[in-house]
Amino acid sequence: MLIGGHWHDDGPKFAVFNPATGDRVGDAFDGGAAETAAAISAASSAFPSWSGQTAFKRAEILHQAYRLMVERKEELAQLLTQEQGKPLRAARVETQYAADFLLWFAEQAKRVYGDILPSPRVDQRFMVLRQPVGVVGAITPWNYPISMLTRKLGPALAAGCTIVLKPAEATPLIAIATFRILQEAGVPDGVINLVTASDPAPVGKMYLEDKRVRKITFTGSTAVGKMLARGAGEHMKRISLELGGHAPFIVCKDADPIYAAKGAAAVKFLNTGQACISPNRMYVHRSALQPFLTELTNRVSRLTVGNGLDEKTGVGPLINNAAVDKVANQVRDAVDHGAELLCGGERSSNAELVNGSFYEPTILANVNPDMLIYTEETFGPVAAVIAYDDDDDVIAMANDTAYGLAAYVYTNSLSTAMRYFEALRFGIVGINDINPTAAAAPFGGIKDSGMGREGGREGIDEYLDTKLGGFSI
Ligand code: NAD
Repeated sequence: MLIGGHWHDDGPKFAVFNPATGDRVGDAFDGGAAETAAAISAASSAFPSWSGQTAFKRAEILHQAYRLMVERKEELAQLLTQEQGKPLRAARVETQYAADFLLWFAEQAKRVYGDILPSPRVDQRFMVLRQPVGVVGAITPWNYPISMLTRKLGPALAAGCTIVLKPAEATPLIAIATFRILQEAGVPDGVINLVTASDPAPVGKMYLEDKRVRKITFTGSTAVGKMLARGAGEHMKRISLELGGHAPFIVCKDADPIYAAKGAAAVKFLNTGQACISPNRMYVHRSALQPFLTELTNRVSRLTVGNGLDEKTGVGPLINNAAVDKVANQVRDAVDHGAELLCGGERSSNAELVNGSFYEPTILANVNPDMLIYTEETFGPVAAVIAYDDDDDVIAMANDTAYGLAAYVYTNSLSTAMRYFEALRFGIVGINDINPTAAAAPFGGIKDSGMGREGGREGIDEYLDTKLGGFSI
């Protein structure tokens, strides 16, 4: 844990395991309410001087952190793979994505502009200032454990906020490595504080109850997000929430089904399906169904499941055995309700992988609304395919979910693309595009997928208050 510029070197610890092997990768200090309170005090003391720095100085430090992260990409990716499981190639991509947020917000720091407004009175002038909200309490998940850190640290630091961050209990080590880089880049003591914990509840409670925390930023499940939102309401704190999803992936009748299947195979099994924007319902026009399923099955059955450290691995483990059980349960439930299993459908039988949390990439056809997988986030390597006949019906079906994070559409018609883009009630829509994300683009959802945006021009707004000055002259 990093509190007020000092790394803790004694106290109870918890172990961190490699999900591919079950081996212990390392330990982290087990923090609780007292450490969180100390971290909030440190962040609160550091706020006046950090927020009083010029944006140029803050930008310079973020630029340096970006350079260090890129320089150490390989080392960070190796750690990320061992702690989280994703294939090395994906870990390198995620680390670069994490660094991109530092660079983007280094630049955005200098673009926090105010405003001069016209007044109805000749003797009055209006000026609008945008000021940092103060101490931020952040909580991040394990599925993208480095990029979700910088997506919060970057804008908070650029805006002039100080921060306490709690990473997921499965992935504290990559957080420690990231905080070391920021410290080395010159972030002053107390401006960034890291509290690792095996039990997240006391940390979240302290963020809510301590009046000095003025904003909470959370990425994780909808259930925890709603609990934090209720508490933030009680204490009237700013909050932004990046929560779960249940993305539709629509293959229109005018799409190329082979190209769409290629996209589906790539995006569904990325991070072993453990992504908030992972497609959960693949709606395929009945006329395109057979070629789509044939191509998808060909591609998915060729995916190599294994330890992410092996460069040949295409699909790594799930985060733990509970995640495997959840996926197995959804698949069993779907098959019991009439789904057709086209490939996978079981834990990996490879003898070398028995100690890891592996599940075979799976395709289910004939999925229908009676199945758990139709409404519950899977967070695993299962493609659920549903045939449809009518455009209006499929838009209604796609929108018929409590979530609203990402949606995907494959079509060769510009007017169909525009129609779907406008009609789908999601924060992000990929049109013939399986990766509609970048540091420069606003990421976030609506409905049960949360509120607020990260990245893009909007990302820094979450960390700024607007102040109006009225001057009588
Ligand atoms: P989770 O909600 O269990 O955990 C996320 C974080 O919340 C972890 O740091 C955890 O320790 C913490 N947490 C859990 N209970 C808490 C409590 N009572 N008080 C305070 N903190 C608490 O979710 P998860 O299973 O780790 O992550 C997966 C979820 O995150 C999925 O639903 C996924 O869709 C979502 N997610 C969303 C985005 C996005 O940008 N929208 C990105 C990644 C993941």
